[in-house]
This record gives sequence, C-alpha cells and structure tokens, in this order.
Amino acid sequence: MSGLGAMCLAGTASVGLSSTAQAQSVPAVPQPPMPRLARTHEVVSLNAVQTTRPRVALTFDDGPHPQNTPWLLDILAQYNAKATFFVIGRNAQRYPEIMRRIVAEGHEIGNHTLTHPVLAQLGDGNVLREIDRTQQIVWDTVGAVPVTMRPPYGSFSHRQMNMLFQQRNLSTVVWSVDPQDWRRPGVSVVADRMVRGARPGAVILAHDIHGPTIRAVPQALQGILARGLEPVTMSDLLAWPHWGPRGLRYVSASGHQHRG
Ligand SMILES: [Zn+2]
Repeated sequence: MSGLGAMCLAGTASVGLSSTAQAQSVPAVPQPPMPRLARTHEVVSLNAVQTTRPRVALTFDDGPHPQNTPWLLDILAQYNAKATFFVIGRNAQRYPEIMRRIVAEGHEIGNHTLTHPVLAQLGDGNVLREIDRTQQIVWDTVGAVPVTMRPPYGSFSHRQMNMLFQQRNLSTVVWSVDPQDWRRPGVSVVADRMVRGARPGAVILAHDIHGPTIRAVPQALQGILARGLEPVTMSDLLAWPHWGPRGLRYVSASGHQHRG
C-alpha cells in the first residue's frame, strides 16, 4: 500500500516542489461547468503540517458508506470533533444525503478520485478526468469544491502532484499517521496507533468503510483529546480559508465572479 516515496513535509516547505518547468502540458480535458476555485494556496503536497498549534487532522477515506459514515458522524458530534472525508466520487454520487450531512455538521470533503484507481499508472488526461468528475459530483451535491486530493494507495508521482497543482490548484494530501486499519488489526490497536501518532500538525489516516475503524474512533478521540490536541479539518489545520464556498470567491463557467 505504499508508493509514497520521499514525500515532502508540509506547509510552505512544500512550495519548493512546485515548478512550472516540470509541469507538462496536458491534453485538453473537457472542463466541467462548475465554478473554479480562486487560487488561495501554494502547497503542492503534504503529509503533515508544520505547526506548534495543538491540532491534528482526522481523515477518513473511501466513503461515504451508507451505515458506517452516519455512525461515525454521530461519534464525531459527541466529541465536537471535526474531520475531513476523502470521498470516492462514485460513492458521493450514490449517497448525496450523507454528503450533505457531512458538510452540514462542519466537516470537510476531499477528493479521493472517481473510481479509486492507481493514479501512478494513469496518464495525465485520465488522472484529471478522475479528479474533475469527482470535483463536479461534490459541487453538485454540496455546493462546495474540495481543495485537497488524496491519491488512492498514496500512489502519485511528484511529477503528477506538480501537474495537478499547476492544472487544478489542488494540493495532494497524504498522511503522517497510518494505523493500517484496513488490515483489521483490532479496535484497540487501531485506536492506540492513532493516538500514539497524534502530535501537532499530524494527518491521521483511517477508512470510514470499515466497522472496526468506527468502533475505534471513540477511544482514539479520547486519547487525542487527553493529549490536549484538537481534531480539526484539513483547511483549518493548514490555516487556509474554509474549503467550502463560504467567504471564498469563485469564477463561474461564464466568468462571472460571485461569492458562494
Ligand atoms: Zn482509498
């Protein structure tokens, strides 16, 4: 499940990855009619955020799931914790009500591709189609556009990260803490790994499609909160403007600017 290679550490340190010289021109891809997000950040990729503020990002991949995601949302609400959901476009399309609930409860949506392919094996045109169609589905569903993308399996080359950043101003977010919950090592093990890896700026990976992962979340949250760490969304951890339309300027397909 690796393929991460040498991943750049976060924040402004990652800006060095950005290079127009390396970005190749990409075959024309039909542009979705959704509004384009004005460029608000300059981070090509990150696996953690360099910060001393006692905050972490809990991230949940591969949903929404019809039972487990609502169950997780109930738990997060109990602890007043915010998270980021890297959704698969096909699942987002299938469960729009859960998507709307995620956003209504103050969580963030990230792009985890349309069909969960190994992006490193795809050409740029197909990569952008996976990303664009998911952006469009999220926009159509919740009226907001993700500002981060997480590659399935972490499989995405630095050249592709640069390409995505140059072409779409999307930052690639991987993770700094991997509890390997998909291997189902047991509820306590997953919770313990999440807590032990939690430190200021950590990005914690989990999957809300697995029941045992959801069962681990209360124990993980208790441990994280006991360490004085606040679970926040990716945009909050990065001190970016809110990911959604509120307060951000968009340019619609017609070029008309408005505030979402
Ligand atoms: Zn995934």
